Amino acid sequence: MRFWTARQFNIAAMSSASVSSPAERLRIVLVGTQHPGNIGSAARAMKTMGFSRLVLVAPMQFPHPEAYALAAGANDVLETAVRVDTLAEAVADCRLVLGCTARSRRIALEALHPRQAAERGRVAVEAGDEVALVFGRERTGLENDELQLCHAAVHIPANPDYSSLNLAAAVQVLAYELRVGWSMDESTLLIAPVGVARAREVRSEPPATHAQLEGFFSQLADTLDAIDFHKGRTPATAMRKFRRLFLRAELDARDVRLLRGLLADAKRMADIAEGRLPPPRMP
Ligand code: SAH
Repeated sequence: MRFWTARQFNIAAMSSASVSSPAERLRIVLVGTQHPGNIGSAARAMKTMGFSRLVLVAPMQFPHPEAYALAAGANDVLETAVRVDTLAEAVADCRLVLGCTARSRRIALEALHPRQAAERGRVAVEAGDEVALVFGRERTGLENDELQLCHAAVHIPANPDYSSLNLAAAVQVLAYELRVGWSMDESTLLIAPVGVARAREVRSEPPATHAQLEGFFSQLADTLDAIDFHKGRTPATAMRKFRRLFLRAELDARDVRLLRGLLADAKRMADIAEGRLPPPRMP
């Protein structure tokens, strides 16, 4: 049956090496989608705005006839959709990851208006970076752990008493903002620029990938333990604050190497102080 013949491409093959246009450097990531119809509607929303790269993180039911029914002809988006098990896998090669959320959470992420998100994304794709826009589950949205993998949160302004849009409607709003903000139509060139994102400084190295940052964060967590940073406080709270700080800094690969060198030395000194390593020989 044709619904079960969806081709699966791996993410690396879809990314910048084989892809050239800015729109193709953007992927829409749907996490744990419950209703296959929403996957189809999201594909349709993407295609109407000129986007085609869909990544599904552990969808409950996919492929599914309902997804194709609601895609209304955007079957190509569904057929080239990539399916992975975790959000970390979905965004490993991305240099900008934006999580869309219907409500503000305790997690202190920088909050962006969709228009700011579009501008931030434009600067990144024009620099050749891979960018992910991440959407959560219909009932429960994105979990805090998942939001922590994002550089910033995007909130579509809505009725404060009823702020949760249907998943595909949220994809539509963001995709539309990208289309306008990225001047993908000649007519939108007539609209004054709306971006308010920070301009990225001229840099010699591209920003660190998600995987490089996660390597750094995991070494940071180990080092904080080794130097007894927490002193009885919750490690998760400190890590949340450090993540926010370092994600805001837009580290590049060289920054990450520098910081990891610093951590390695701090850990070595702690190991010496605790007798886990012999003291260095005096000259
Ligand atoms: N009850 C869930 C809502 C999930 S709606 C919650 O409170 O989080 C499914 C997904 O659509 C969300 O995870 C989010 O990615 C997106 N979404 C819905 N409304 C949104 C809004 N106002 N702003 C940004 N994203 C929104």
